[in-house]
Amino acid sequence: MPRILIGTFFQETNDFHPNDTVYEDFGILRGREMLAKPGSREEPNGPGDPGDQGGLGGVVGGAVDTLTARDDVDIVPTYSAAMGAGGTITQACFERTATELLDAIERHRAGADGVYLNLHGAMASETEKDPEGYVLREVRRIVGPHVPVVASFDMHGTITRRMLSHMDGCAILHTYPHIDWYETGARAAGVLLRILDGARPVIASVYTPTMVRGDELKTATGVHGTFIRYLERLEERDDVLAGGIMLGHPPTDCPEQGSRVVVITDGNRDLAAREALYIGQSFWNMRSHMQCVLHGVEEGIRIAAKAKGTVVFADAADATSSGAPGTSNTILKGFLESDYRGSVLFPIRDDPAVVRAMEAGVGQTITVPLGGTRDPRFTPVEVTAAVEVLGRRDDVPIAVLKCRNITIFVAASGPLLCDRWMYPAFGQDPKRFDVVVKKLPHTPDEWYDDWAERTITIDSPGAASPNIPSLGHRHVTRPIYPLDPDMTFTPEVEVYE
Ligand SMILES: [Zn+2]
Repeated sequence: MPRILIGTFFQETNDFHPNDTVYEDFGILRGREMLAKPGSREEPNGPGDPGDQGGLGGVVGGAVDTLTARDDVDIVPTYSAAMGAGGTITQACFERTATELLDAIERHRAGADGVYLNLHGAMASETEKDPEGYVLREVRRIVGPHVPVVASFDMHGTITRRMLSHMDGCAILHTYPHIDWYETGARAAGVLLRILDGARPVIASVYTPTMVRGDELKTATGVHGTFIRYLERLEERDDVLAGGIMLGHPPTDCPEQGSRVVVITDGNRDLAAREALYIGQSFWNMRSHMQCVLHGVEEGIRIAAKAKGTVVFADAADATSSGAPGTSNTILKGFLESDYRGSVLFPIRDDPAVVRAMEAGVGQTITVPLGGTRDPRFTPVEVTAAVEVLGRRDDVPIAVLKCRNITIFVAASGPLLCDRWMYPAFGQDPKRFDVVVKKLPHTPDEWYDDWAERTITIDSPGAASPNIPSLGHRHVTRPIYPLDPDMTFTPEVEVYE
């Protein structure tokens, strides 16, 4: 009976976040704790959050369900260190989590026939810029060259050459916004089972020096979706094990930053190489389309003033889903300084302001500084506002303040992404506002796009700014698009057998 070891090592690093990630930020599960709530397709439990436990659970759940659907497979959960997006991982935290994972793999390696790892792909510590590559190399060292090692990945990350050298296969999320966590875990497990049944994986991969953002990455409507649908047709072939695209994650400042096409076949080297090169060349050709169209705050307010329906301002630069702290007040300042009189719904994370509102109580008027509490990029702005609603969601204290025409939704730090699904419980209906600010780049269409007049992405400062040259990379290998917009490049295929 094949024994499959399962492990998780998962975080999305934003190196431009003002605070580091420490061990206590991770959720740690040991052994069978991993299976207590592995998640299912029916219970995604996290609308679009790349890091929430439901999403993570979903990917492990998909792998576990696929493996255990075969009654001849024995699964061995080992260790899980997981969290959503956050700042650079301290070296001590990286060494401790990696060591705990590798120790757990070591303890169970006797008789192991395969390893499945749930990885993100966008981790970075202070000095190890390829944590997943380190872990894959060490897992390979522990289990030896003949035990297949297969991983699943978020698409917002980097698969390095070291990672490709030490794994036998992988599956990458196909959808953005992400709705296929469970299916991706299932596909990774499927690749592992095919290898155990005798498939001989050939991985062909094409790297492109590109950092991409913007609407064209939405799978349903954008350029990215055309590549994914092409790959999905390839995956229907019997001799293709998996295909996917790692888009890269611009806020991770790592040397191999970029995008990467991966095509894995069963022994068909020519097919893998040809298709990976075709898609990689096409991806490179489309690079300028896969950049974000940005509007300044004042320009956005002018657009809103002329609109008939709700205009959504995406503050992608301060997106909590991408590891930004959620404390930017740039757009709030813009509205306070303008003569715009439409109704505005604005979310922000600010712990002291929530405390002040709680002390004052509903119906009272308070004057508080707002913004910048966890990100020194932003200077606080003083706001006089009425306390309209107080409460908690997911244990996070929340205060709804009203300042002139602006409803300010203030949340304390915590697991909340600060977005759509938290509003109704506090008496707020986004559809009734003329402007809704969201601290996420893209959201499922039913949240806003299905009914709003339009969504515009605001060019504001922040740790996750889609204005990529504004981030200030120091470690990415140059030249890279769009930092070096005029660069030339010829994609080449790499094959790993
Ligand atoms: Zn992602």
